[in-house]
Amino acid sequence: MYHQPVLKNRRTLLERAEKFTSDIYFTDCNLRGRLFGDTHPLESITAFLSEKRIPYSEAIQQNFQPCNVGDAFGPTWWTCWFKVVLKIPEAWREKEVHLRWESDGEGMVWRDHQPIQGLTKEGEKTSYILTECLKDSEPHGITLYVELACNGLFGAGQGSMIAAPDPKRKFTLQKAELVVFNRDVRELLTDFEMLVDIVKLLGDGEQRGFQALFTANEMVNLCDPANPSSFAAARSLAQKFFAQKNGESQHVVHAMGHCHIDSAWLWPYEETIRKCARSWVTVIRLMEKNPEFVFTCSQAQQFQWVKSWYPGLFSEIKRFVQKGQFIPVGGTWVEMDGNLPSGESMVRHFLHGQNFFKDEFGHYCKEFWLPDTFGYSAQLPQIMKGCGISRFLTQKLSWNLVNTFPHNTFFWEGIDGTPVLTHFPPGNSYEMKGKVEDLINTVKNNKDKGRANHSAALFGFGDGGGGPTQLMLDRLQRVQDTDCLPKVQMSSPDVLFSQLEADSSLLCTWVGELFLELHNGTYTTQAKIKLGNRQCEVLLHDVEVASCLALCKRDSFKYPACKLQELWRLLLLNQFHDVIPGSCIEMVVEDALQYYDEIRTAGSRLLLAACESLGSSPDKAVGSSTAVLNTLPWERTEVISLPGEGTKIRLALVRVPSVGVAQVTEMAEPIEPTVSVTMMVDGTIMMENGLLKATIDQKGRLMSLHLVQTNRETISEGGFGNQFSLFDDVPLYWDAWDVMDYHLQTRKPVIELVEPAKIVRSGGVQGSVSFSLRISGKSTIRQEIILDACCPYIKFNTQVDWEEAHKFLKVEFPVQVRSPNATYEIQFGHLQRPTHRNTSWDWARFEVWGHKWADLSEHGFGVALLNDSKYGYSVHENIMTLSLLRAPKAPDANADMGRHNFTYALMPHTGPFQEASVIQYAYNLNFPLRVYQGAISEPLSAFSVNSPAVILETIKQAEERENALLIRLYESHGSSVTATLSTSLQVKEAWHCDLLERPDPSIPVSKTTSGISLTFKPFQIRSLLLIIQ
Ligand SMILES: [Zn+2]
Repeated sequence: MYHQPVLKNRRTLLERAEKFTSDIYFTDCNLRGRLFGDTHPLESITAFLSEKRIPYSEAIQQNFQPCNVGDAFGPTWWTCWFKVVLKIPEAWREKEVHLRWESDGEGMVWRDHQPIQGLTKEGEKTSYILTECLKDSEPHGITLYVELACNGLFGAGQGSMIAAPDPKRKFTLQKAELVVFNRDVRELLTDFEMLVDIVKLLGDGEQRGFQALFTANEMVNLCDPANPSSFAAARSLAQKFFAQKNGESQHVVHAMGHCHIDSAWLWPYEETIRKCARSWVTVIRLMEKNPEFVFTCSQAQQFQWVKSWYPGLFSEIKRFVQKGQFIPVGGTWVEMDGNLPSGESMVRHFLHGQNFFKDEFGHYCKEFWLPDTFGYSAQLPQIMKGCGISRFLTQKLSWNLVNTFPHNTFFWEGIDGTPVLTHFPPGNSYEMKGKVEDLINTVKNNKDKGRANHSAALFGFGDGGGGPTQLMLDRLQRVQDTDCLPKVQMSSPDVLFSQLEADSSLLCTWVGELFLELHNGTYTTQAKIKLGNRQCEVLLHDVEVASCLALCKRDSFKYPACKLQELWRLLLLNQFHDVIPGSCIEMVVEDALQYYDEIRTAGSRLLLAACESLGSSPDKAVGSSTAVLNTLPWERTEVISLPGEGTKIRLALVRVPSVGVAQVTEMAEPIEPTVSVTMMVDGTIMMENGLLKATIDQKGRLMSLHLVQTNRETISEGGFGNQFSLFDDVPLYWDAWDVMDYHLQTRKPVIELVEPAKIVRSGGVQGSVSFSLRISGKSTIRQEIILDACCPYIKFNTQVDWEEAHKFLKVEFPVQVRSPNATYEIQFGHLQRPTHRNTSWDWARFEVWGHKWADLSEHGFGVALLNDSKYGYSVHENIMTLSLLRAPKAPDANADMGRHNFTYALMPHTGPFQEASVIQYAYNLNFPLRVYQGAISEPLSAFSVNSPAVILETIKQAEERENALLIRLYESHGSSVTATLSTSLQVKEAWHCDLLERPDPSIPVSKTTSGISLTFKPFQIRSLLLIIQ
């Protein structure tokens, strides 16, 4: 069929085809040069610059000034509105006509008062189609508005993508004109591109690659760029090639459009709202032209934004959701970080997300969708399952720096044993472009060959939004069943997972966490965000508990459901996978901290209102009476600060019943022995409370920490506990994200004294010692070491003034414990990680995350390191280290600069940490007793649980059931137990329910005289609905 003589030079034929479609070379005579036909200038273009992001209706009222193509607009984060008046020449009858618009800013076209299409050069969207075939009857004169955000797809980084934004950048309107678009040239170019890619990617070892080469070459022979009538013959050659089919066993690629939009990252939250609109309206345009096109879209928050700000677009989206093309996925409020949010926060992501999807679109999501986060908690499978989800899609583990994760399709089993079917798209991307390379990578990289024959391929520009293009759809459409390429079908998560489930008998299981061997600086970066998160999680917990108690006690009390929903959603939003990890720009940090302030202010007000409803009984004067609320499910005896006169702090040792309140006047008498603090002649200080005996040197270091009862020393011989150390912290690229293994070789102890240890409080119910150290010329540490009466841990209240660059501050405790594993708290449970560096999987975890505590125990003795706002830990051999502060410079050039306050504590113990109540004490450190003005007639305890293994975590009003409380408990020791939940509240009925609070009548509630009897498997989460009188 080919011309004679057959050319044998692969290289010249290949490059001939490439040059024929090149947009750089030979465009005067090649096919690419014919893509666009005649051009025509706009009738007029005028502009209006706004510092703020204003609505369309407001924008069009403004005074628009003439401007020109080539003008630059800015600065960064401003918006330039353009009014575009155009007239299509009548001579362009039957032509496809585009508004060609090129700018480095992100644009949105508005027509007839509606957003109509996104225009983003970086997302390969530079054309707005005015007509596909110009008719005389169509309007030729049109007025459009273009809203141009003065930022790119990835913000405005100065010099590199993740550098801090350049606040003064200008964005240029490079092109704005009418142009004739030659669709037939586009189609032929796409044929060529696919064939050329097949030639290149199959290489010279596959005969199919040569077939593609000779087809492309013959197409060049047949095709005269100047003569469109020659195109059909060339196209039919290509079609013949693409139509040659595979065998039955070929791998199936499930292509799904996708557009990963970070809810905030290198741009602020407010810009994300517009990114969603720009991306999704473009998706709707593509769906109108391509009825087979399927698009997956996650994050309820983003739908909520579009619903609020672009109601017209939202109803169009709803229409395409009904048609099954626009597919909401994920089931969560945002795509949260997979490591740091608490167990309850994780549940709320699904609760708020699933309820939103159900309310708006009629059904819950069946897949959890989290392509881009920096690790995945081993408790996620159980939480997913409890929220109606048993399928999970992600891909970030392909970023592992050290080890290659061995699966793409597998069962992931959580710490409680719950399995979920998990799929990592083997193409290792959530923003493919529908290219041959994507398809071949999908097959080649699949690590479960022979076990799983279906894979997802997510296509569309992502991270900064953008989404799919017509070209991507055209590429995929050509190779649905082309011999030597995988089969490609436009698909949906449900279709993919159903196929995987149907043929899952050979799939392997991965047990425990999915640890990302990268980005482990995100456990520490932006310490104020971490602190805000922890404190607000605690505050909202306490507001819910107190409000439930008030609800049960007073008929007149109104549970603040709406306000709590609003505050929870702010907290959840900040748990987005570039905000809580601290990998965002300074503007986002400012927004996030402001949201935490809003939660703190409103939450404190709600807490006080609930406490006051609980407190004042009519027969007692409120006056100066002080009451204390304990929101935790065990009795606590602790030292509290009472409101004193002036600056003087009064301390008291109080006992408060579980989930209850007590009057300060009814407090327990000080229990002997109390605390004593003594300075020795050599300047060292002894602190003792009957449980612990600490010796502190002048630099604030623990020379010794004795467990009095067993006379056991905690600190290793010759070592110093509470030793601060500073490391150089220069990663390879991802500054805010990464701390590399080699930082460990740069350790410098912080030992320069500013003020030696001195006694602040010499004893009684509390003893304390303060000192300060110099970290560097600019940074200092001031610390108060506190020992309370009756408290089994020694507490370190720390203030750091931090002005560093690329340094990492940690605190170390070398302890007398030998164990191959350390234990770390995670969501609703804990897990172990090695303390040695035997294998690559072990040493890749040189910096790990944990929540409120980590513990290192040998038989009979152990040490726990507790914290109130930190997440980064490492335990190597016998040294327990807590990560305190980092100082990255990108993408926030001022990350973590300034003053920080945080607390950690060291708790040595006999026996296993479970029996020593480490878990309870870590809760106590984080959930302060709440002191308020009020009078209580008698101490109240609303709930208690008779097993120390079971933690009553959550007490809230049930969603949409005003007469019901939702109670959540979990087994925290890793044991099978039966526990009884007792309550003093009047409970009419009780139901087991799932995490979405759907009653489960299949599990009968077992009531005994003392309460509700519950059985737990290790780390099991249980939820109950209590119908109250
Ligand atoms: Zn992301």
